[in-house]
Amino acid sequence: MKPQMPARRRFIKQVIWGASALALPPLNSFAQPARKRLGVALVGLGRYSTNLLAPALQRTKHCYLAGIVTGTPAKAAQWKRRYGIPDRNIYDYQSMAKIADNPDIDVVYIVLPNAMHAEYTIRAANAGKHVWCEKPMALTVKECEAMLKACRDNKVKLAIGYRMQHEPNTQAVIRFGKEKVYGSVKSISAAAGFYYNRTDHWRQKKSMGGGAMYDMGVYSLQAARYCSGEEPIAVTARQSTSRPEVFQDVDETMTFDLEFPSGIKAHCKTSFAMSMNSLHVDCEKGWYQLEPFQKYSGIRGSTSDGKILDAFLDSQQTRQMDNDAFAILHNQPLLVPGEEGLRDIRVVEAIFASAQTGRSIVI
Ligand code: NAD
Repeated sequence: MKPQMPARRRFIKQVIWGASALALPPLNSFAQPARKRLGVALVGLGRYSTNLLAPALQRTKHCYLAGIVTGTPAKAAQWKRRYGIPDRNIYDYQSMAKIADNPDIDVVYIVLPNAMHAEYTIRAANAGKHVWCEKPMALTVKECEAMLKACRDNKVKLAIGYRMQHEPNTQAVIRFGKEKVYGSVKSISAAAGFYYNRTDHWRQKKSMGGGAMYDMGVYSLQAARYCSGEEPIAVTARQSTSRPEVFQDVDETMTFDLEFPSGIKAHCKTSFAMSMNSLHVDCEKGWYQLEPFQKYSGIRGSTSDGKILDAFLDSQQTRQMDNDAFAILHNQPLLVPGEEGLRDIRVVEAIFASAQTGRSIVI
């Protein structure tokens, strides 16, 4: 009989295998667009597209960087040189509808300021392309529903860029909750934030969907939802600002307590005033935690019985986009579909309503 590996090693091996299976050799993104790979056009070439998504798309197996949509001609020239993108796959915001006639592009990835997600998702869907949209899905439930309808009407798929749900250590704690490995979940604490010191940026403007809640608070909210496996039924939230001159019309810090149907309570916090990156889950028979729980790399954790959660993932974005491309290519369900983004925004609306009224809101 084959000797059994100790449980902890077996667990880590499984997680590492899952991660390394996606650590693929670098590919020249445009040189050999194999027929089985989806062509992705990035819309909005800001920090996230430039520093994370485009490099990640050089390593994906099921998709590649095929095109761009940008309002800045200098960026178009730079990206064309850097990634060898042909002129026929370069668009500006006015000409974006012409993507409809471009067979090189299968997926349009919206990486614009939050207030623009709904409009551009709908434009991409109407062009007949699958859509990947960054978090938060949009600003309101109404916008999310319009996005879902546009994708349904055009028979295209919509995925939200919640990269943590693709991350192996995060997937381990989701499984702990689902399988009650430490008994029933009782209490969750999640805190996500950083010290934001830019000035005159869309993240400080309400009209653009700025503020800590939309930007970082959705990580705490997601964690509460995926660790409980339930939808919150009530929320109590409080907003505070230490730099009113910088955060004039958006939230700088938001704390929110969520109640779930089974009695689980989640204590969540988000902020642009301090650095926070931790998730802790208390259960009947033990606990587990991840710290950091939403950084781009190095997600690590531990459990009350001494397990270390440190599965290595080369790029969360590579894994996320490969998973989404694979699901589309094989007509399988997306891990994080548009409906999941909508569930968050429903709670976010209640959080803002509670912070404004000072009352607990039933969802
Ligand atoms: P950014 O400010 O660096 O980039 C925004 C881009 O949008 C810029 O290229 C800008 O030129 C363009 N743009 C077009 N119209 C604009 C307008 N009217 N006003 C301002 N900019 C305009 O922002 P970012 O950090 O790249 O964030 C973009 C999106 O990606 C956001 O929705 C954000 O939440 C999301 N994001 C997700 C992650 C993640 O880990 N999933 C990380 C960072 C950002």
